[in-house]
Amino acid sequence: MSVVGQALVGMELVDLQAALGQAEPSFRARQIYDAIYRRRVTDLTAISNLPKNLRARLAEEFPLGVPQVEQRYDSVDGTRRYLLRLSDGKTVETVWMPEGERSTICISSQIGCPVDCKFCLTALMGLERGLSAGEIVGQVLRIAAENNLAANPGRVNVVMMGQGEPLLNLPNVIKATRLLTDPAGIAIPTRRITLSTSGIIPKIEELGREPVRPKLAVSLNASTEEQRRELMPITRKYHLKDLIEACRAYPLRPWEKLTFEYVLLGGVNDTDADARRVVRLLARLNAKVNLIALNPGPGIPFETPGAARVASFQAIVKGSMPCFVRKPRGLDVYAACGQLKRMESKEKTHLGLGRGVASPSTNPMTHFTASRYMAWMSGRSHTSSRWPNVE
Ligand code: SF4
Repeated sequence: MSVVGQALVGMELVDLQAALGQAEPSFRARQIYDAIYRRRVTDLTAISNLPKNLRARLAEEFPLGVPQVEQRYDSVDGTRRYLLRLSDGKTVETVWMPEGERSTICISSQIGCPVDCKFCLTALMGLERGLSAGEIVGQVLRIAAENNLAANPGRVNVVMMGQGEPLLNLPNVIKATRLLTDPAGIAIPTRRITLSTSGIIPKIEELGREPVRPKLAVSLNASTEEQRRELMPITRKYHLKDLIEACRAYPLRPWEKLTFEYVLLGGVNDTDADARRVVRLLARLNAKVNLIALNPGPGIPFETPGAARVASFQAIVKGSMPCFVRKPRGLDVYAACGQLKRMESKEKTHLGLGRGVASPSTNPMTHFTASRYMAWMSGRSHTSSRWPNVE
């Protein structure tokens, strides 16, 4: 089958060999693979070890497939939120979070999301479509190019926690994971890639059978079946009790722990009783818990809990298993967890985000969220926290 015309990014070595056809010796495919994924060229004509006529053929027949930056929003904390334009003109969001010598790239697996979590802005978009493996990998390549991430992929974490439910796009997520982790290519260690799911049970089982797969994080967010049904209607189909059973059966690798993400919603799921129920739910699992105080957003009908509440919840869970508080990143540019929703023009004007690179001085939301962020951070300075909590 001819794959001529497909983007090169997203192709594995066998795909490249098939795309080039019999006319080219097989080592040419390896040279192209090396240039795209290991050397991360962003211009096909720059692959200087290829003959001129092959470079011309590539440029004519194959788009490279690294998405373009449509918009970039810079946070006061160094986080950058990117709106990336795909080949069909649709856009997707990716977040870059530098932290000292390490950094984390939060990528999307779908445009929008069909899972209707009540605390998440992305849910308000609905689902437009899933991303191809190339579009998933392309986000990492674009962020690497924009931020000069040439060397040492071992210091980069990738989290599939942007837009979308990764397990509803599993074949593409798995192919992207193979490309991201291939030592001959991008070479990000498997233990530095994490996928977060709302709890699509049959797909968790399918993921567990994959030889190359990201670490698994489960977005828990409730301590009872009823509470989770309200916050995450997907629970009506995939019950909390069965989700925990699927987690018990999940084949962890020797170095791996399950991560449970828990968004704390003030007065809803953040009581000490909730914390104790979480401990009981997760008993006998090799697990850790990441707490995220709700990141606010327009249309989200919940409040961020106070620092003391977060600390109390953490202390209870921490008595039984590792429990961390995730530091919010990029709140002022809507880059934090659960905030990735493409801004419509009306909202852009309201937020001051629609005019090129957003700057704190021109973004009216910045003053609100940055000060709130600083207050939140200082209020919780006595709590133990580490971020990012990605090993
Ligand atoms: S939290 Fe994740 S799964 Fe739920 S709606 Fe948002 S993007 Fe989708």
